[in-house]
Amino acid sequence: MKPEKYSLGLIGYPLEHSLSPRLHYAALAAMNVQGEYRLYTVPPFPGGAVALEYLIRDLRQDNIHGLNVTIPHKQNVIRFLDKFNPAASMIGAVNTIYLQAGYLQGENTDAPGFLADLAQVVDKNSVSGQRREAIVLGAGGSARAVVYALLEDGWQVIVAARRLTQAKELINRYRSTDLSDRLSATKLGKDELEKVASRIDLVVNTTPVGMWPHIDESPWPREMPLPSGAVVYDLIYNPPNTALLQAAQTDGLVVRNGLGMLIEQAALALERWTDVPVPRQPMWEAVPEFVNE
Ligand code: NAP
Repeated sequence: MKPEKYSLGLIGYPLEHSLSPRLHYAALAAMNVQGEYRLYTVPPFPGGAVALEYLIRDLRQDNIHGLNVTIPHKQNVIRFLDKFNPAASMIGAVNTIYLQAGYLQGENTDAPGFLADLAQVVDKNSVSGQRREAIVLGAGGSARAVVYALLEDGWQVIVAARRLTQAKELINRYRSTDLSDRLSATKLGKDELEKVASRIDLVVNTTPVGMWPHIDESPWPREMPLPSGAVVYDLIYNPPNTALLQAAQTDGLVVRNGLGMLIEQAALALERWTDVPVPRQPMWEAVPEFVNE
């Protein structure tokens, strides 16, 4: 039975700049669904372990109907959950939890959220046929979701990280799958990028480089041109137009910031919790200052 009023929220630390409440309240109002979306500030482990356990207990008892999870708990919550969808299992991180038929289900909506938003700027048929090759800058948590999404969508993927070992660790997760032959790792450096740049159709920044307040920084070496004709997607949305996206625009490339991914992952989570279609437009209208125009 559906609750009269949904009790939803976000677990993370720190949370004071989170846009999630604005997005979820805008959507709930447009859906005409009663609900609250609270911020649960849970310190990193080990300090936050007890608070996290209490929140999980509230989910099991149906006092809370759905939770999003962000840094630093996307992996910490896994030990408390019963079931995972394939994306969460392969990525090894959960951002959406809810009780389903008595089991605590963990999902990752970052991956499908990224893909749904990428589709706004990448027309499958227009990107050079068979050879759709992407380079993912960074190899942390969000890179794992992006790499999974791109592989699922049929891309060849190069993971470029400043620590080659981290990029290799990421691609090794796929070693025993049939996706591994579409994956490679390289160092995030000028010499290495020069070797692959001519093949690249899509650049995705998953590093925090360029985030406010360090807005003049770019993960792509300054003296190096971006791959010609590529789409450039930056997961950062604050500032809405990062130095990387500005450079890409100057080169005439198609760009997209991470606001659409944030909105899509939120909308997908809300759809899981309520089983009601979520309109995206009110969510975009709730955060106009982060739209890159
Ligand atoms: P993370 O797990 O800490 O990973 C960050 C990655 O960037 C790591 O590979 C890290 O390498 C690398 N990196 C950090 N500083 C760097 C530098 N100066 N030069 C080169 N590489 C550097 O973080 P995350 O969770 O993936 O988040 C990364 C960014 O994505 C953040 O800006 C976050 O806000 C954004 N994000 C956006 C969305 C969205 O919905 N739009 C969703 C998730 C994340 P080291 O390990 O060597 O530091």
